[in-house]
Amino acid sequence: MQRFKQALEEGLPMLVDTTLRDGEQTAGVVFSNREKLRIAKMLNNLGVHQIEAGIPVMGGDEKDVIKQLVSYNLDSSIMAWNRANIEDIKHSLDCGVDSVAISISTSDIHIAHKLRTSREEVLANMVRAVEFAAKHELYISVNAEDASRSEMDFLVKFARQARDAGADRLRFCDTIGVLDPFKTHEIIGELIDQTGMEIEMHTHNDFGMATANALAGLKAGARFLGVTVNGLGERAGNAALEEIAMALKHLFNVDLKVDTTDFYNLCEFVARASGRQIYPGKPIVGPNTFAHESGIHADGVLKHPSTYEVFSPEDVGLERQIVIGKHSGSKAIKMKFVEYGIDLSNEEAADILEAVRNVTVDLKRTLFDKELMYIYEDYLYEKVKVPSTGDRDNE
Ligand code: MN
Repeated sequence: MQRFKQALEEGLPMLVDTTLRDGEQTAGVVFSNREKLRIAKMLNNLGVHQIEAGIPVMGGDEKDVIKQLVSYNLDSSIMAWNRANIEDIKHSLDCGVDSVAISISTSDIHIAHKLRTSREEVLANMVRAVEFAAKHELYISVNAEDASRSEMDFLVKFARQARDAGADRLRFCDTIGVLDPFKTHEIIGELIDQTGMEIEMHTHNDFGMATANALAGLKAGARFLGVTVNGLGERAGNAALEEIAMALKHLFNVDLKVDTTDFYNLCEFVARASGRQIYPGKPIVGPNTFAHESGIHADGVLKHPSTYEVFSPEDVGLERQIVIGKHSGSKAIKMKFVEYGIDLSNEEAADILEAVRNVTVDLKRTLFDKELMYIYEDYLYEKVKVPSTGDRDNE
């Protein structure tokens, strides 16, 4: 947990990855022990500060794998998730984790309809659990579940009591993903003003704003960013690790010292392990992020990559691709043929381009390099067959 400790002291923003907990809670997703350990090692190697590894009270494989993970002594802190009761926390202690998330709902809708209890009981349970964890010298993130739908006065009371009981930070959960960045900025700013507590953002993507909301929280003073690889997580998922890290680096000028060059490998591994493909337009690691087809874009990128790319594909472990399709231009066609040692004249490139457009519309897709070569072969055949003085229309 060395990296976590150091960042705590230096006051740096931190990534808290919950791929192994919230990510695995995605309906239909289950990781094998081997996959969990591999994912944790990859997260550790690329520089994540804290890994929420699972829920020890579930027992069985879930508990065993957390114990094993703790035995690796990684640079990342290992956190276990708990409900606000002492029994859960005892299971976390069995695993030897250094940190715990202690979770209970703070919204009236959850208190009345899920917990079927009262605000007073919520506070009492939380305080009891936090005091127990603090006594055992665990680092504590108190989770206000459904915080985004909680009444501000109660949330402030909850946070203050958590702090007084020994909590190190408050996890602000936008459990059902109903915030927008403006609202988030306002709420987090007020929460920090009123409690002085360290805040962790835990945002969901139900309206496609998980990443934006987490970053809005950071701008308002939150220091911990809850993320998952590929944005995996309940329903529409969480804020994506790769999006948050790259946005911080390129849009906020915040360097988390994360090795981003392994992002594609990590995302691909998690995609396979979770049985969820990375969709073509997925920000940062989608296969289309560095694929250029349209003539104007391909021409620009070939002359100077930064015309249409914010960062280099190598920065995230991808490669640039010039795709030949309906919208290609003759410059891209010429470039493709140069790769195969063929130097097309402008006239030849124009002819090939016309053929490419016909074929791609017929097939309704882009072309493989080999198909491009077949088009060229057919073109040469036609050219040789028809004498240069001949009239094609009379063929
Ligand atoms: Mn969640």
